Amino acid sequence: MLTLENVHVSYGPIRALHGVSMTIGAGEVVTLIGANGAGKSTTLRAISGLVHASSGRILFEDKDITQMSSAEIVRLGIGHSPEGRRVFANMTVRENLELGAYCRKDRAGIREDFDRAITLFPRLKERIGQNAGTLSGGEQQMLAMGRALMGRPKLLLLDEPSLGLAPFLIRDIFSIITDINKQGTTVLLVEQNAHMALGVAHKGYVLETGHIILSDSAQQLLANDDIKKAYLGE
Ligand code: ATP
Repeated sequence: MLTLENVHVSYGPIRALHGVSMTIGAGEVVTLIGANGAGKSTTLRAISGLVHASSGRILFEDKDITQMSSAEIVRLGIGHSPEGRRVFANMTVRENLELGAYCRKDRAGIREDFDRAITLFPRLKERIGQNAGTLSGGEQQMLAMGRALMGRPKLLLLDEPSLGLAPFLIRDIFSIITDINKQGTTVLLVEQNAHMALGVAHKGYVLETGHIILSDSAQQLLANDDIKKAYLGE
């Protein structure tokens, strides 16, 4: 479904990705793990067109999306739930969710996905008329995910969905990710919580200072001694 071939990204003089290659098959949950500053968010931004690769290619369903705008990429079926709960603070939960469907016209489908989002996240249903800026951090995280789902993406990019959540909510979020995947959405998950991420993923990539240093099935990565020491705190 998605292929990155030797992708390089720089922010001015700062080189963030030095030739990242990865593949994601339709129906998979793939996780990208790595330390702070490794380039995980940049990889997601490059896929969704928020930054552009200086070299290399990104193919989605065989189309070259490397230099496409983020609006075109959303229309092709890639949704992005960014790190840091980027919700529209002065708009209500309902308005934020509706905005996630801005490029769709199928009213019945939008209604269906709205109902699905508030079923997946009952907390959002309770706060549907509340301004997003007054939600707790965890609720804003759920809203960002719900909003990305409102675009009915084929591929959902999730940046640190567990960040700042209470432990019981972290379990909820990972089980929701599994549900979303079972309902047919392919997921690329960026996480510092490598243990939980590898628990729900089929395979994983390990990113270190802009390079992929390892990729394997999630099971093999969980059993790998170097990964255990560096990322699983064992
Ligand atoms: P974290 O887990 O801390 O969020 P990350 O793996 O997602 O980290 P990125 O946010 O992709 O890492 O950052 C990769 C590198 O690019 C870092 O060195 C960071 O300082 C740099 N960087 C990211 N965004 C910018 C920007 N807008 N301008 C300049 N440098 C940036």
